[in-house]
Amino acid sequence: MASYRDLLKAAKADIREIDPEAAEARFDDSTFVDVRELDEFEQGMIPGSVFIPRGHLESQAEHKLPDRDAPIIIYCAAGNRSAFAAKTLQDLGYSDVVSMTGGFGRWKNEGRNWITPAVLDPEQRNRYSRHLLLPEVGEAGQQKLLESKVLLLGAGGLGSPAALYLAAAGVGTLGIVDMDVVDASNLQRQILHNMERVGERKVDSAKKALTALNPDVDVVTYDVRFGADNILDIIDGYDVIVDGTDNFPTRYLLNDASLMKRIPVVHGSIFRFEGQVTVFDPYNGPCYRCLLPEPPPPELAPSCAEAGVLGVLPGIIGSIQALEAIKLLLDIGEPLRGRLLAYDALEETFRNFKVRRDPNCPACGEGAQIVLAEYDALCLPHAVLSDGSAAH
Ligand SMILES: [Zn+2]
Repeated sequence: MASYRDLLKAAKADIREIDPEAAEARFDDSTFVDVRELDEFEQGMIPGSVFIPRGHLESQAEHKLPDRDAPIIIYCAAGNRSAFAAKTLQDLGYSDVVSMTGGFGRWKNEGRNWITPAVLDPEQRNRYSRHLLLPEVGEAGQQKLLESKVLLLGAGGLGSPAALYLAAAGVGTLGIVDMDVVDASNLQRQILHNMERVGERKVDSAKKALTALNPDVDVVTYDVRFGADNILDIIDGYDVIVDGTDNFPTRYLLNDASLMKRIPVVHGSIFRFEGQVTVFDPYNGPCYRCLLPEPPPPELAPSCAEAGVLGVLPGIIGSIQALEAIKLLLDIGEPLRGRLLAYDALEETFRNFKVRRDPNCPACGEGAQIVLAEYDALCLPHAVLSDGSAAH
C-alpha cells in the first residue's frame, strides 16, 4: 500500500515545480490558481488568483479555467496540495501547469505582493446561498455582483421588477434615473411603489423599497431629466444599463452615449400585450440604430400614453432584462446580443429574431461619428425591424 509520502513523491515526479521567485517573474502572463481551503484563502492571497479548493478542482476546473493551453501556476500553503493539483490538471488535459514550491507561506515570507480578498460575511453567505450553490455564480460570482454597478433608466413598469430582482440578487450599486412622482395610476404595474408613497419622488420611493429588500445595495438616485448635457456624466462608471424608458428621444440618446462609453444596454419595451427585449453590446453586436437608424415620423408613432399596457407584462419583460444584466455581469450563458426576444402575452409565445449589426450604421458603423443630440418628443412602443435586419 502506498503512503502519503509515496503518493506525493510520485505526483512530484510527474509535474514541474518552480519557486516563488520564478513564479513572480511569470506573474503577468500566467494564471495563479489557489487550491487551499476557504479559511486559508480568506487570510490572504496572491492578487488575481483563481480560487478553487483542492476538493473542487476536478468539478470546477473546466468552468473557471476554460483555456487548457494557458500557463497556470498552482499554489497551496506549502507546495504539497498544489503538487497533487498540478497532476490532476495535467490529467485533465491542461498543457502548461506548474506547482509553486513553498506555497503561499514562502511567497509571503519572501515579501512578495499579497492581498486580503473580499469575502462574503456569514449573513451574505446565507442570503445568497442559492447563488453559491450554482458553480456559474459561486462565491466569486456573488462577489462580482456585489462589486457591480447597474444603471436603471426609469423606475416605472420595466424598472420596477428589474430593480427589485437586481437588488435581491445582490448587485452592489443600483443607479436609478427618474424625474417623476409616484401616481396612483402607476401602481397597476410599477411594483416598486405603493399607496403610502403616492406623491413622493419616484427615485426616493424606489430607494426605500430596494434598501428594505437588501441593505447590501447602494442605491444612487438621479432625480433629473436625462439629456444630452448630463448623460455621459450619469452613465460613466456603470457596468450595464437597463433601459426601461418609453420614448424615442431617450433611446437614441442612450444608444449614442452608451456607444461612446462602451457600456452594454439591456433594452426592453412594452406595448399593450406585447414586449421585446434585446441586448445592445457596443461594437460586439447591433446597436439601437442598426435596428432603427432614425426615429419614425411622428404621424407613424402612436402615443404610448393612449395605447395602454397589461399590468403583469412589464413584470415579465423587466425580469428578463434583470436576468440579461446579471448574465452580462457574470459573463455566463448567451446574452440576447444580436437577438431580439418578442413576447406575446395573449398567445403566450416567445419568439427569437436575429438582428445584425449594420456595417453602415450611422452610430456604430465604420467611420461613424457620434454626435449627442436631443430629438423631438416622439413616442413609439417598439423598435420596428427593417426588412433587411429581421430574420427568424
Ligand atoms: Zn449600430
